[in-house]
Amino acid sequence: LTPEEFRKLGHKMVDWIADYWSRLESFPVRSQVAPGAVASKLPAHPPEEGLSGEHAWDAVFKDIEDIVLPGVTHWQSPSFFAYFPANASGPAVLGELLSAGLGVQGMLWSTSPAATEIETRVLDWLAELTGLPEAYRSTSATGGGVIQGTASEATLVAMVAARERVRRQGAPADSQWVAYASSQAHSSVLKAAMLCGVARGADDTVHVRQLETDARYALRPDVLERAIREDLAAGRRPFFVCASLGTTSSGAFDPVGALGDVLERTGVKAAGGWLHVDAAWAGAALVCPEHRGLLDGVEAVDSFSFNPHKWLLTNFDCNAFYTRDKRALLDALSVTPEYLRNAASASGAVIDYRDWQVPLGRRFRALKLWFVLRHYGARGLRAHVRGHIRMAEHFESWVSNDARFEVAAPRSLSLVCFRLKPQPGEKPEATDARNRALLDRVNASGKLFLTHTVLPAVDGQPPRYVLRMAIGGTYTEERHVRAAWEALSAAAA
Ligand code: PLP
Repeated sequence: LTPEEFRKLGHKMVDWIADYWSRLESFPVRSQVAPGAVASKLPAHPPEEGLSGEHAWDAVFKDIEDIVLPGVTHWQSPSFFAYFPANASGPAVLGELLSAGLGVQGMLWSTSPAATEIETRVLDWLAELTGLPEAYRSTSATGGGVIQGTASEATLVAMVAARERVRRQGAPADSQWVAYASSQAHSSVLKAAMLCGVARGADDTVHVRQLETDARYALRPDVLERAIREDLAAGRRPFFVCASLGTTSSGAFDPVGALGDVLERTGVKAAGGWLHVDAAWAGAALVCPEHRGLLDGVEAVDSFSFNPHKWLLTNFDCNAFYTRDKRALLDALSVTPEYLRNAASASGAVIDYRDWQVPLGRRFRALKLWFVLRHYGARGLRAHVRGHIRMAEHFESWVSNDARFEVAAPRSLSLVCFRLKPQPGEKPEATDARNRALLDRVNASGKLFLTHTVLPAVDGQPPRYVLRMAIGGTYTEERHVRAAWEALSAAAA
C-alpha cells in the first residue's frame, strides 16, 4: 500500500471499528460457532496473487463481517461478565495504531529513545496513581517499572530474579528450590516454576507449594510459616512467595504485610528470598485511594505487577511490573552479545528494557498507556473503577435479596461469586448441576456471558460450583447489569 492507499483504507478501518463499538449490543456475547466453522470458510492454501485494484479490499471487509465476527466472543460487549474484563478503549487503540505505524522495536534505549523514556515516565505516573512507594519508581536508586506482556511473564521474571538473588547470597545452584503461593493463586505461578526448572525436582517432587486458604480464600500466614519451616528443616531452599491481590476465582486478597513478616521471621528474607505480588486484575482499583489498604505491608514486597489490560482501559497486552531491586532482575536476565553493544548502553546513563524481560524485542506499548492516562486522567480512571464497583454492590444486593440465590464468597471490588442455594435435602452435586445448567442457559441466550469457578471446601461446606459476575467492561452501564440479573432470574425461574 502506498501511504495514500493506506490513508483511505485506514479511514475505512477506523470507521469499521467505531461502528463495531456502536453495535456491540446487537451481537450474541459469546461466539456461537461450532469448532472448525471459522476455518472451514478459509481457503486451504495461501493466495498466490496479492490484492489489486481500487476495490480489492472490499472482499477483506466482507470477510471481517462474514468470517471473523461470527467467530468472535465480544469481550468489549457491555454484557460481557466472564473471566475478568479485557478493556479496550479509543485512546488505547489509537496508541496501538500509532505503535504499529511507527513500527519501532524498542529493545535498547538507542533503538528508539522515546520508547524507553515514555515507558519509564508513564510507569512512574502509574506508580504514583496506584500509591506504590517511591522505592518502585525510576527516581529511586534501586527500583523501577517496565511493561511486560502479561502477568504471567511478570511472575516468571520475578521468580528468575529471586532465584538469582538467593544464589548470589550463597545458595548452591543445585538447591532444592521451593516457591509458595496459595491454592487460589493463578496457574501462572506453577507455570513460571516449570519454566524456571524448579517445579519438579529430580525425584519429581513438586516444588511449588500451593497452600491452604482461610474462610475468605486468602493465604494463611501461619500455613506459610509452617511450610517454610518444614522445608528449611528438610534442607530445601525457600526462595519465592507469590501473594495474590485479587485471586482469579473469587478475588481474594492475601495479607501482604503478614506474609512479609513470615519471610522476615523465618530468615528467608535475609537469605535473599523474594515476595512478589500478583494483582493482575485488582491492581487497577488502587487508583482509588479508598482501596490502598490492600497495599498494607508493601514495604516488604520485592515486586508487584498488575494488568492495565484488564480493568484500566488499555487493550491487551499491557502488564505494569515494578521491582524495588532492579539489580536482581538485571543479574538474572542480562546477556550482551557484541551486536547489541552501543555507546549509550555502555555509558550507564540509559535503561535498556531488553534486560528486564524474556524476549529481546519489544513493542512501543507505552504509547497506549500514555494516551489512556492523558485522555481519562486520574479522575476518569477512578470514575471507571468506582462505577463498576457500585454496579457490583447493586448486583450483590439483588442476589442477597432473592431467596433462591446466595452470595458464595465475599464480594471483591466488582466481582460477585454467587449461586443458586441448595434446596432442602439436595446433594451438593445436584446443587452444582443446577448452577451449571443455569450458566449454560444464560450463556446460550447470547444476551450475556458469565463464567464459573469451583470454590474450595470451607467452613465444613464441600467445594462449590459458583457463577462469577465480573463487572468491568469499558461500555458497561448499570442497565446492562440490571438486564443480566433479570436474565439470570428468569432462567432460574
Ligand atoms: N494472575 C491473576 C490473579 C489473574 O487473574 C490472571 C488472569 O486472569 C493472570 C495472573 C494471568 O494474566 P495474564 O494473561 O496477563 O498472564
